[in-house]
Amino acid sequence: SFSIENIPQLPPDPLFGLKARFSEDSRPNKVDLGIGAYRDNDGKPWILPSVRLAENLLQNSKEYNHEYLAISGYKAFTDAAARIILGKQSRAIVEDRLVSIQTLSGTGALHVAGKFLKDFYVSKTASEPPVVYLSKPTWANHVQIFEYLGLKTASYPYWNNETRSLDLDGFVAAIEQAPEGSVFVLHATAHNPTGLDPKPDQWLTILQAIEKGKHLALFDSAYQGFSSGSLDKDAWAVREAVDKNYRFPVIVCQSFAKNAGMYGERVGAVHVVLPEHSAALNRAVHSQLSKIIRAEISNPPAYGAKIVSLILNTPELMKQWEDDLVTMSSRISEMRQTLTAELEKLGTPGSWKHIVEQQGMFSFTGLTPAQVERLEKKHGVYLVSSGRASIAGLNKGNVTHVAKCIDEVVR
Ligand code: PMP
Repeated sequence: SFSIENIPQLPPDPLFGLKARFSEDSRPNKVDLGIGAYRDNDGKPWILPSVRLAENLLQNSKEYNHEYLAISGYKAFTDAAARIILGKQSRAIVEDRLVSIQTLSGTGALHVAGKFLKDFYVSKTASEPPVVYLSKPTWANHVQIFEYLGLKTASYPYWNNETRSLDLDGFVAAIEQAPEGSVFVLHATAHNPTGLDPKPDQWLTILQAIEKGKHLALFDSAYQGFSSGSLDKDAWAVREAVDKNYRFPVIVCQSFAKNAGMYGERVGAVHVVLPEHSAALNRAVHSQLSKIIRAEISNPPAYGAKIVSLILNTPELMKQWEDDLVTMSSRISEMRQTLTAELEKLGTPGSWKHIVEQQGMFSFTGLTPAQVERLEKKHGVYLVSSGRASIAGLNKGNVTHVAKCIDEVVR
């Protein structure tokens, strides 16, 4: 029976818990390197100029209302979102082999994909839903999203801590040993938390192994444009998997939280690539994805999708957005350079080159949990205990100070 007194209290979410401790800290020179949200050089949230322009346009257009969207979302948005990640010339688009549906940002996309896989992706050799393989380490919420749905998760080697580089052999061995028809979650770009992405030739090895193992590739694209500043470059691996002659199924989960700075608006999509053109199959998949959305959220949020749609479908706004991506990615890369240079100047023990080699929002610094704790307690510099630092929290005003604090805890 239901006994309300016996409900166990869960510990706070590590990241949002950190955010709360940071807010309560009254030290004026505190620094937040925790949550993965872009900050400008003054440490402030940044509304992208392209988003501001789109907001003005929207408010003066006939689309400006607060009506419900369709169950599958705002079609002008989902169609354009597919072109952004897959490329206009994508075979999946040209051959009409794609089902796209709007979701609650990237988390919602992963959830909908997970539910869909649980219900329909049963491999030929197993009667059970597939095991979902996640990189070790990965974004902490990945495990929870899939296990919450009752799916089993496992991990594949990814980060070699000794060499601070990709454990490609371990990764490929895990793909080879996984039961046929497993699901491999792949970070499309800017791997969270390590900031380390496979190089193109390494991607080819990974994709070939996935094909050989008859697995499914589930791409999580949460940082397109953040690694290189170029949407096309950062979509390379996804496009390779979709457009080359591989014969494995591909699903893409797409978030505009980071690259459009629309964190709280929950703008995202899931794209299911079909093996062949079939209007009936397309309708069937679309209906099942729609059923999930209808039961869970009825229909997705409209405002952010309309904004992003305007950006993607208006050439001048698109150009501005591409500039905005360069602004964000180059500021982050400048901060990587400065932090490394400052640490080298201080002669901080250890090598810090990996900070410049990594890309995207994060750096896996190699700091230990004890060092991270000391950074927070003694210096008011906040990062998660794994040693992952959100480089976007650095700016010209605090980077020298942060380097000194790191130097102090490392010695
Ligand atoms: N995947 C990864 C790897 C992420 O880092 C994030 C955001 N931290 C997401 C998905 C989803 O974020 P959102 O739901 O805000 O789009």
